[in-house]
Amino acid sequence: MANKPDTTQLKNLPQIEEVLKQPILASLQDTLPQKQLTEAARAAVDTLRKRILAGESVTIDIADIAQAAYNRTLSLTQPSLRRVINASGVIIHTNLGRSVLAPEAVSAVNQVIAGYSTLEYSVQNMARGSRHNHCEKLICALTGAEAAIAVNNNAAAVMMVLSEFAAGHEAVVSRGELVEIGGSFRIPDIMSLSHAQMVEVGTTNKTHPIDYERAITNNTAMLLKVHPSNYRMIGFTESVGIHELRTIADAANHARDANATAATTCAQSDTIANRAQCPHMLVYEDQGSGAFMHMDFFGEYAEPTVAESIAAGADLVSFSGDKLLGGPQAGIIVGSKALIDRLKANPLARALRLDKMTLAALEATLRLYLQPETAAERIPTVRMLSETPDSVRTRAVKLENRLATLLPAGDAKLAVVPEISRAGGGALPMCDIDTYAVEITFSKGSAQACDEYLVRQCPVPIIARIKQDALLCDMRCVLPTDEIEEIAQGISAYFFTFHDKAKGDA
Ligand SMILES: *Cc1c(COP(=O)(O)O)cnc(C)c1O
Repeated sequence: MANKPDTTQLKNLPQIEEVLKQPILASLQDTLPQKQLTEAARAAVDTLRKRILAGESVTIDIADIAQAAYNRTLSLTQPSLRRVINASGVIIHTNLGRSVLAPEAVSAVNQVIAGYSTLEYSVQNMARGSRHNHCEKLICALTGAEAAIAVNNNAAAVMMVLSEFAAGHEAVVSRGELVEIGGSFRIPDIMSLSHAQMVEVGTTNKTHPIDYERAITNNTAMLLKVHPSNYRMIGFTESVGIHELRTIADAANHARDANATAATTCAQSDTIANRAQCPHMLVYEDQGSGAFMHMDFFGEYAEPTVAESIAAGADLVSFSGDKLLGGPQAGIIVGSKALIDRLKANPLARALRLDKMTLAALEATLRLYLQPETAAERIPTVRMLSETPDSVRTRAVKLENRLATLLPAGDAKLAVVPEISRAGGGALPMCDIDTYAVEITFSKGSAQACDEYLVRQCPVPIIARIKQDALLCDMRCVLPTDEIEEIAQGISAYFFTFHDKAKGDA
C-alpha cells in the first residue's frame, strides 16, 4: 500500500549541525570523535528521509532524531563483552562464557598482565624459555601422561593432532561418534581440513571391534575415538572403548612390523618421523570435556577422566580447558614425549598458541587440582556441579525473602521450587542435577516481558529461564557474592514499571 511520498516533508528535516547541538549528542562531544557523531546524526536523518521517500507518514522531531543517532553510537561507547548473571541453571553455558575462573586464576592473570612476565624466559637459565613449559609439568602430574601441550581450544587441538599424524593417511572413526558439537564443530569437516582421510565404521547405534579391524589398511594412521558430548544414544547401542582400540592398534602395528613390505621402508629406522611415512597406528581420543577428577557424585553418569583414558592405553588425549576442567578457554593434548614433541614442532603450534593471560589462568587452575580435597570447593565449575541441592536452596530462600520485601503486594506469587540444572558444555547430558529455583508467577506483566526486561534493561543482564507462565531463577550458578541482591533489584525494577514514580518511592 505505497502512498505517494509527501516530498514537502523533506525540507522539514533538520540540518545535521542542529541535530548535533541536541543535549544528548552534545554530551558525547568529549567521548567520541566529531566524525563518528556526525556520521550517526547523518544516518539518523537519512533513515527518516528514506521513510518519507517510501511514502510513510512520519513525524519529524529533532529530539527523537538525536536519540536515534545516540543509540547508533552505543555500539562504540558501551562495552559489548560484559558480565551477566547466570540464573539459567546451565553450568558450562557456552553462550555465557563457559567456566567462571577461580579467584586464584583471576589473581594469576592480574599478576602477569600489568607488567612483564616470564612468558618465554627461563629465570633458571637466564635465557629464552618456552611458553609450553608453564603448564606441562602440572598437566602430566595430574593425568599421568608423559608430556602435554596446550593450545587455543580443543577444536584447535583436534585439528593439530589430525594434521600432524593423519594428514595423507586414514583415520578410522565410528559412525556413532561423527557428531556435531555446538558452534559448527563437526568431525568430518575437521578431518577434511586437516587432509586426513576419514574412514567411517560401524553403524549409528553399534560399532564393534571387528568393524575397526576390517577397516585397517597399510595406510591407517589412527583409530580416533570422539566423546559424543551433548549427544547420547540409549537402548540398543554399543561402542568400542580405548582399551579395546589399544589392543586392535597393537595387533595391527605388530603385523605391520612383521610384514615384509613394511619392513623395507620402516625397519631401518625406528624413529617416529620415519614411521610417519609408513604410519605407526595411534589411538587418539577427543575427550571433549576432559574431567580431571572422577565425579563420584554423578554415579554411573560420571565422565571418564583424562587419566583413565591414558591408563587405558590412548596414545593421545585432547580436551577443553573451560568445560569440566573449569579453567580458561584452551585445548590440552597429552601423550608420550615423542608425540607431543612432534606437535610442538608443528607450525600450527605457533599459530594456535596460548597467550599469557590464558596460560596464567590455566596454570593457576591446574595447581588447584593438586589438592583434590579442596579443588571441588575452589574451582567454581566443579563447585557448581557438586553443590548439594540443599545448599543451593539456601540461596533460593534468600532471594525469595528479599523479593517478598521488595515487590509491590499482589503483583506476583513467589515460591522456592525443586528444579533440574544441566551441566552444559557437552558434559553429562543425561544427568539431571537436582537444584532449587525461585519461581515467580505474574499477576502484573508476564514471564516473557520480565525475562526481556532482565536481559535488556538491567545494568548487568540477568539470564533466567521461562517455564510455562512462570519465570525461574535457578540459583545453582548464581554466585554467592552480590548477585542475589542484583537479581532482586532487577525483578523489582520490572514490577515498578507498572506503578507510578510516587508509589514506587513510597
Ligand atoms: C567441546 C568439544 C570440542 C571443542 O572444544 P572447544 O574447546 O570448544 O574448542 C571438540 N570435541 C568434543 C568432543 C567436544 O565436546
